[in-house]
Amino acid sequence: MTLLLLCKNRKCGFRHASELQMDQKSFRTAVIENNSEKCPKCEKYSLYNKQDYFFGFLSSNSQKIGIELGTISSVAG
Ligand SMILES: [Zn+2]
Repeated sequence: MTLLLLCKNRKCGFRHASELQMDQKSFRTAVIENNSEKCPKCEKYSLYNKQDYFFGFLSSNSQKIGIELGTISSVAG
């Protein structure tokens, strides 16, 4: 199963698919700072940093995270 790049909104804690989709290898070296994404729950744009991103996948209900794998931020340092 393909993992999606997800992000967690720091204001409301809602987790959703990122607009930045990339594989884990690319993510390790990617620089993500103050990336603007729209939270589907708040319907507002917020700034996200690399530590707000992680890989996982969405359940059939696209708004709900089924299984979540650990964050990659520790790998990225
Ligand atoms: Zn939100």
